[in-house]
Amino acid sequence: MQLTEEVIVDMLNKLGSYGEDPSGGISRFLYSEEWVQAQQFLKEEMEKEGLTTRYDEIGNLFGKFEGTKYPDETILSGSHVDTVRNAGHYDGQYGIITAFLAIKYLKAKYGQPLRNLEVVSMAEEEGSRFPTAFWGSKNIVGTAKKEDVAGKLAFDNGIPFEEAMRKAGFDFRDETKELRKDIKAFLEIHNEQGNVLEKEGKSVGVVQSIVGQRRFTVELTGQANHAGTTPMGYRKDAVFTAGKIITEVLTEAKQVGDPLVCTFGKMEVTPNVVNVVPGKVLLTIDTRHTDKEALVSFTDFAEETMKRIAKEDEIGISIDMWMDEDPVPMDENIVNVIANSCDKEGLNYKLMYSGAGHDSQVLAPYYPTAMLFVSSVDGISHNPDEYTKPEDLLEGVKAMAASLYELAYKE
Ligand SMILES: [Zn+2]
Repeated sequence: MQLTEEVIVDMLNKLGSYGEDPSGGISRFLYSEEWVQAQQFLKEEMEKEGLTTRYDEIGNLFGKFEGTKYPDETILSGSHVDTVRNAGHYDGQYGIITAFLAIKYLKAKYGQPLRNLEVVSMAEEEGSRFPTAFWGSKNIVGTAKKEDVAGKLAFDNGIPFEEAMRKAGFDFRDETKELRKDIKAFLEIHNEQGNVLEKEGKSVGVVQSIVGQRRFTVELTGQANHAGTTPMGYRKDAVFTAGKIITEVLTEAKQVGDPLVCTFGKMEVTPNVVNVVPGKVLLTIDTRHTDKEALVSFTDFAEETMKRIAKEDEIGISIDMWMDEDPVPMDENIVNVIANSCDKEGLNYKLMYSGAGHDSQVLAPYYPTAMLFVSSVDGISHNPDEYTKPEDLLEGVKAMAASLYELAYKE
């Protein structure tokens, strides 16, 4: 079996035909008909290769290639099969296909491994049909909660979660069941969804850490007043204060630099009228870093700065931090295995971090986990225009195959 660009693109197109949306791209939601068909397609492909397939209770699909020497040790790889609405051809499904093709290639070239090689097509990650995300990976590690989905209705057709799940042939996980102990490594490859690799002319990224995030909503309260008759000195203008806050916090963020990012993505001005001094401003802040301490130190700075400026301007302020997620480091040993494998294969790669969340962050606290990226053209994702060049797709599969070889075929 040859690893070629055509083989990869062909399989992406085949899997991508399940849920093809007439309005563009792929819309393949959890437990929909297209979702069931996509999982079935993958199951048949795996069986054609001689893999032993099974679904878990909730619909994660596994395909196992048995090892000869360590039957209780498994190297797992894969990603999620669901998509957002009007998704591209890479997010999620490239990770599943890469794991599958890498195993197919290794099987043809080297025969049975010492440890089990297993591919997983996870049920759900995106949260695009029900208000839940990471349903697939959270069920693998047993952190998914019935309460999180009980009575939740589908955004597309209003069907309750449990009904959709049972209609697709699945049910809740047996919570008394023990977690798998055989998984010795989990590897996930994903399109980057950013433009770092492209800007640096690299094909493959080896992820060292997934960023932590803190998100805030800030409310500034001044006084709405007549824009013509209120002299500048007598104003409590919430936009003026917001402007100073944004400038000072973002200037510091630029000063701190990579891998810190900070975004004031949303702003609501009240009353939002041309001839009224704005009495109220609502701001959101999204800030991320790979290091917990650095993240905390920056958000402490941001909070102090906001309070100080508001006080100077005699503007009321309330700050609400509603998301606080720690960074997730990837397993150092596996990161080294991947980097060394890329070196051996002569691949054009870079060590980096992930600015977005992935299934890997759910699995990492339980199993040694690492991630790879392939370059995304213009960093476009969650969009039918999402694109990774076939040559980069191929480099990604090569990196995965070489890494799986090291982990499953070597003592
Ligand atoms: Zn994804």
